[in-house]
Amino acid sequence: MATQTKDYYSTLGVKKAATAEEIRKAFRKLARKYHPDVNPNDKRAEEKFKEISEANDVLSDEKKRKVYDQFGFYSDNIDPAAAEAAARGGYGGVPGYAAGANPRGGQEVPFDFEGFDFSGFQGGGRGRGGAQDAGGERFGGSFRDIFGGMFSRDQKARGPRPGTDLEYQVSVDFWSAVRGGVARLEIQRQETCPACKGKLIAGGSMECPECHGTGQVTQMGGRMKFNIQCPRCGGTGKVQNACAMCDGEGVVTKKEPLEFRIKAGTRDGQRIRLAGKGNAGMEGGTAGDLYLVIKVGTHPVFARVGDDIHVTVPITVAEAALGAKIEVPTIDTHEGGGRTQLKIPPGTQTGQKLRLRDKGVPSASREGVRGDEIVEVKVVVPKVQDERSKEILRELAKLNPEDPRAELLAEV
Ligand SMILES: [Zn+2]
Ligand SMILES: [Zn+2]
Repeated sequence: MATQTKDYYSTLGVKKAATAEEIRKAFRKLARKYHPDVNPNDKRAEEKFKEISEANDVLSDEKKRKVYDQFGFYSDNIDPAAAEAAARGGYGGVPGYAAGANPRGGQEVPFDFEGFDFSGFQGGGRGRGGAQDAGGERFGGSFRDIFGGMFSRDQKARGPRPGTDLEYQVSVDFWSAVRGGVARLEIQRQETCPACKGKLIAGGSMECPECHGTGQVTQMGGRMKFNIQCPRCGGTGKVQNACAMCDGEGVVTKKEPLEFRIKAGTRDGQRIRLAGKGNAGMEGGTAGDLYLVIKVGTHPVFARVGDDIHVTVPITVAEAALGAKIEVPTIDTHEGGGRTQLKIPPGTQTGQKLRLRDKGVPSASREGVRGDEIVEVKVVVPKVQDERSKEILRELAKLNPEDPRAELLAEV
């Protein structure tokens, strides 16, 4: 975000003593190489081009270059006269570091830059009072902080940002998921502020809260102070009123009823994406998406596994042994499901699964395709009470003497 101290000479690849002509040539050469027209969509080239342009902007201007040479950075807020004055004062090198890094060597000169106030060179402006207020808390900031502050004028201009995505879980009953239907829910989303249309501001302006209307703020670095143009208001001392409805956020939170179609065959856990139905973007950014995660309800008889329907059906011993045609429930027709005939082959065992093709759930993704219904049979043993039934069973046992455990015992 903030620009830090830079070596413009090395950016352009010239010596500190380079002539204006040498600087001009060096810049032209680099500009031809990194110009965005020559490097379309190349972020690094674009960045490089910005850097060399910035270096050229300062070094090709005699006055700016003087300020830069004196202070090691350039800011429009520093009058060249200040640089000259500083030079005459023999501050040398980098101010504030003079004590430790005096290039003239020898004795260390303990310069005290406290109260060194560039506003004085700009013909008045903000006095000491404000400077010292700020000084107390910012004292000890590094030079980088100063440079950061000086070049961060546009840090408040945030620009378009995309809205975030939203995710909601939606409960859908068993039948709506199988056959399709309409789901309703209420979502809470941020939408573009209707009052300011997302511009964050209302009409009129107010005193800049950063500089309290003075247009200048004080930056401290080491023991040095600068009065610089206020980055918040750009030196005007005024900022536009924040929109009261959205509090300057550009978006307001709103509850919104939502109705959407559930496709037949919608599965549990399925995510439905509604593009652009998420939170509104900021300052012209695109809206996020809304994701609905489907939670499908259960049914007392039918269990869904993907597009298949599983159902457990009891059969009698006689049906299992002799075979039969029985009625089983299906999901077809209306509430409670329909019925269809299922042939139980003779000798069917309990737990055996029989498949009814295409009696499952219609596929949500493949047109005209249905799953199957899987019928698991459960043989129900009669609770015989009367003598006659018991007699028949004993007789049956005599006629069928095979031991169902023979195989099991033989294995051990
Ligand atoms: Zn607003
Ligand atoms: Zn301001």
